[in-house]
Amino acid sequence: MILSKELIDFGYIVAAMLFIFGLKMLNKPDTARQGNLVSFFGMLIAIVVTLFAGKLDYKWILIGITIGSAIGLLFATKVQMTAMPEMVALFNGFGGLASVLVGFIAFHQDNGAPIATAIPIFLAVLIGGVCFSGSCIAYGKLAGKVTGKPVLYPGQQIVNTLILLALIGLGVFFVVTGNVQYKYNTIYEIIGLALVLGVLSVIAIGGADMPVVISLLNSYSGLAACAAGFVIGNNVLIVSGALVGASGIILTNVMCKAMNRSLANVLFGGFGAVTTKKSGPGEKKEAKAVSVSDAYLVLEAARNVVVVPGYGMAVAQAQHTVRELGDLLEENGAEVRYAIHPVAGRMPGHMNVLLAEANVPYEQLFEMDDVNPIMSTVDVCIVIGANDVVNPAAREDESSPIYGMPIINVDEASTVFVLKRSMNPGFAGIENPLFFKDNTRMIFGDAKATIQSLVSEFKES
Ligand code: NDP
Repeated sequence: MILSKELIDFGYIVAAMLFIFGLKMLNKPDTARQGNLVSFFGMLIAIVVTLFAGKLDYKWILIGITIGSAIGLLFATKVQMTAMPEMVALFNGFGGLASVLVGFIAFHQDNGAPIATAIPIFLAVLIGGVCFSGSCIAYGKLAGKVTGKPVLYPGQQIVNTLILLALIGLGVFFVVTGNVQYKYNTIYEIIGLALVLGVLSVIAIGGADMPVVISLLNSYSGLAACAAGFVIGNNVLIVSGALVGASGIILTNVMCKAMNRSLANVLFGGFGAVTTKKSGPGEKKEAKAVSVSDAYLVLEAARNVVVVPGYGMAVAQAQHTVRELGDLLEENGAEVRYAIHPVAGRMPGHMNVLLAEANVPYEQLFEMDDVNPIMSTVDVCIVIGANDVVNPAAREDESSPIYGMPIINVDEASTVFVLKRSMNPGFAGIENPLFFKDNTRMIFGDAKATIQSLVSEFKES
């Protein structure tokens, strides 16, 4: 069965609309799950319509879908929540690789493409190639297989710029030359150089900035897919690629703003290569620890509590226990809020996902900008495995690598409990003066175990 052109266009328009509505619903925690489902149906319609859009060799499509689905299923079920950014990096990379393959095969089938298709083919292999190799390096950095430190060398920007200029030159030649053999040689060179550029540009960026880079690479994978859509004349690929491209760049921008850094600073700043300021020999600093039972007494009397989760809550998988403690505090008469920093954890929305999994009511979730103004009226702030996002050095210490990054001002609360296992720094690798403030008490240990003990104290009282 082959669908008529009208039906195909109609199916693609419905799919595109579902993508847009789905994306819009991802905007808020309470509609995000349905948004995912809506987009899923959009993708299903797009795939089914495409399968019946022309005469196809279904054997190869079935083999591809089976292998792809098996790999996807395996990854999705096995991946730890904390390793999600690595998986997203790999998925972006595969998206880029798919665009390179679509571009190259379209070129090969045409036996040297005419000018009109040569432009999108060039863009698909260029952006897809950079996205693929860049994503592999981003994956390696996050998974600890490649150094997390920025790899910097003199003249780096010049080398990258020269490669980019060479790529543009090769692209122009690829588009205008009529010689098929030259075209073949050029497309191989473009793919090779694009792969090199992807590696060189991501290797220079520190591990702490990888989420921003992954979001940017996600945008690249969308743009590459959009170009591939033009190559094969598929409208839904053009629309969905453009949506991914645009949403990826918006998310990149949001994350840069949350860290108070420009995209240029993220990409070329070599953040993480700087040596961080340690306390000098004369400065004696001591963090004060407190026992769980003493912390319980303070919490028992508290009327206004703010919970600030961070990456450590994800590591400890403490979200359900955190919710239980929140409920007990409320039963005890306290008002409980959860303050979410936009880059807490290791991926955008990481804390929202975990707290939603534990069914924390959405109305108790507060964004940084909404909670900071009331922080000085808070009795107790419980910092659960968060570090960089509550580091006052970002506000006070101009020499700090994170100076200027907006933080949750937990130090303004009457009492701050910091739950962590040691005095080790967070992702940015820098010391946190919060731990040494007079109103801060450290509760050392795994966050889940500590909160479980607090829950037991409340239940036994
Ligand atoms: P941080 O990485 O700054 O700190 C995490 C803290 O959790 C550490 O102090 C660690 O201390 C503690 N911890 C780890 N495991 C446990 C455990 N089992 N129990 C208790 N504590 C634990 O996290 P934040 O969320 O504060 O900040 C996020 C950082 O990551 C920012 O620098 C951000 O820029 C960066 N980033 C953000 C991404 C995003 O998209 N959200 C992605 C990638 C990076 P200890 O080892 O002593 O226990």
